[in-house]
Parts: sequence; structure tokens; C-alpha cells
Amino acid sequence: MQPLYLRSAEYNIVEHCNLRCAGCDHASPLLPKTFLSLVNFEKDLLALKHTARIGTFKLLGGEPTLHPQIIQFILKVKSLDFTETVCVITNGTVLHKMDDRFWQEVDLLQVTIYPNVVVKMTVEEMQAKADSFGVRLEIEDKRYFRHTIMDEKILDAELVKDIFKACELPTTYACHTVRHGRFYKCSPAAFTAERLLLRGELYDDSGDYIQLEDKEDMSVALEAYLNSDAPLPSCAYCLGTCGTSFESYQISQQILKANRSVIAHNSDTRIEDLLDRAHLQKRLQLLNMTNYRHGEV
Ligand code: SF4
Ligand code: SF4
Repeated sequence: MQPLYLRSAEYNIVEHCNLRCAGCDHASPLLPKTFLSLVNFEKDLLALKHTARIGTFKLLGGEPTLHPQIIQFILKVKSLDFTETVCVITNGTVLHKMDDRFWQEVDLLQVTIYPNVVVKMTVEEMQAKADSFGVRLEIEDKRYFRHTIMDEKILDAELVKDIFKACELPTTYACHTVRHGRFYKCSPAAFTAERLLLRGELYDDSGDYIQLEDKEDMSVALEAYLNSDAPLPSCAYCLGTCGTSFESYQISQQILKANRSVIAHNSDTRIEDLLDRAHLQKRLQLLNMTNYRHGEV
């Protein structure tokens, strides 16, 4: 069976973060300190390698550069020879501490800079280092977030279908996430159960993912999962790429602890305030004009 080609796939090697961005769609500011083990990483990658070829394999988090073994993670991906590019996505705050081995091994470094966050290495220093090691460097100045994850369930099933249809995370951004042997079509879905549990809500995420198995027709099963028109159960707790936008900011420890939420303006989480209906309608119109089916973008 031919492996499936995926533009990209992601692995959160550290699930917590040293920042507390409002709107973080991985819910990292809420998650407990978790460094992924190399042994489990290899197990997951072997299952994926038999199923798919990956254009860009992204190591991220949380903040991946907090992992003391990040170089070994990069080397492990390379040794399995199933991807063209190994990418690290970071907030840049720890980059000044990374030794030359890191710069030697990474292919693509994506640095997201957030307002009012101290990054000791300047962009010029990053560029000089990247140039000297032949690393492709991409810098994003993240001034705005869109609301993505929701604390409250969206009860309107038709609206959930529309949000899913319009969502660009599993399509345009191909943020497919591998976690604990499971493959999720988007990164927010991989963390729904944990973040809702922190708010005291039990959530069954078995409909959100496909278990990666070393079996003959796994790539067929994965393709069917990716192309399915049905929203994930997680979509009922998510606005995909149609949330309203707001200026990036860091949530205070106290507010985070008290609310167990990364939703900005948490005192008022009504869907009317968090959903950008005009953007949703525009996306749906565009998709209707192109007879879009999920998975075909
Ligand atoms: S969005 Fe902010 S809080 Fe979330 S992982 Fe990135 S840097 Fe950390
Ligand atoms: S709307 Fe659904 S598919 Fe899109 S990011 Fe949210 S959970 Fe994932």
C-alpha cells in the first residue's frame, strides 16, 4: 500500500509553555508540565512512517526549546527518513541558550514574536546564526489572535457543521497532530479532553482521532478520516478559523488560575461575541463557489 502524502504533521514535544498567550489554541498555558519521551516519540513516528510521507514535520508545543533533548528529537525524525523538512516552531525566548548542534540539525525555524515578550536574541542575530548554519528562518510578528477554542459547547449543530466546513486548520494549515499514538486532523482537537477536564467537564474524545496502527490499509483509513465531511466532536468546542480577532496579550497567572481558560475576555464567553459571522459567511460562500469538499484543499 502506497503511503499517503501529507503536506505537514506536528508533534508537541513539550506540552506546557513559558508564555501565557490569551487564545493559545493548544491550551498550553493551562496544561501541566509535560516533556514527551523519546521512546514514545519513536513508537509514534514508526507508526506514522508506515502510513504517510510528510512534507514538513513540525516539532512544537507548548515551547519545544524547553525540552533538554530537542536535538535528539530532531535527529530521530531525520533518521526515519519519511519527511523532507524538519521544522521547529518556537516563541524564541530560549533561542539564545541553544547550542550550535541545534542550529546544525534544524532545517526550518519558525519564530513567532509576541508583543511585550522579552526575546533576548534579536532578529538580526537569529538571521546571522541561521545563515551561518544554512537554516531557513521565518519570523512571524503575532500582533493578533483569533478566538479558536471554546469553554462552552456550541449547541447549534448546523453552526458547528459550518464552522468545521470553513475551518482552515486541517486544510490550508495542515496542522495534523500526532499524540499518544493517535492522529488528529487538527491541533486543537488533540487537547480538548485535557482542557475541559481542567474545568471539571468529562469529555469523550474517541471520535476526534484515528489510532495509528502498523496495518496494511492504514493509509486508506487515514485518507478517509482526513476527507470526512463530518465535524469532529471537538468542533462543538471550537471556532476553527472563524473566531473574532483581538490584540495578542499575556494572561496574568491569577486570571489563568482562577478561570482555567485561555479565552480572552473570559467573563463573557457568549458565542455571539466570539464568532466572526461575517468571516464565516465569506468563507462558506467562497467554498460553495468552488464546490469544496473537506480534505480537497
Ligand atoms: S501561543 Fe503562546 S502560550 Fe501557546 S504555545 Fe505558543 S507561545 Fe506558548
Ligand atoms: S473547528 Fe474542528 S477541525 Fe477546525 S480546528 Fe476546531 S476542532 Fe479542529
